[in-house]
Amino acid sequence: MPPKLTISLLRSEGVRGAWVHCMNMRCRNYAYITWERMRVRGTEEVRELEIRGRLKCSVCGSREVRIRPYWTQPPG
Ligand SMILES: [Zn+2]
Repeated sequence: MPPKLTISLLRSEGVRGAWVHCMNMRCRNYAYITWERMRVRGTEEVRELEIRGRLKCSVCGSREVRIRPYWTQPPG
């Protein structure tokens, strides 16, 4: 079992958000979203957020998303 990739663990590594990719083949939207905007708790895992459909694509409304933690500051 790999270690749990929780939000608080990512925060401790300086990760403030993630790229959220829409898995709808006709949409393929992606956006950088901070943990605050996702309204997640520190104890939650990235995988749980994907499985539970907590996040929704702002373009097509799909809840089939993949979350890729952003390990450095986003540009701008
Ligand atoms: Zn979409």
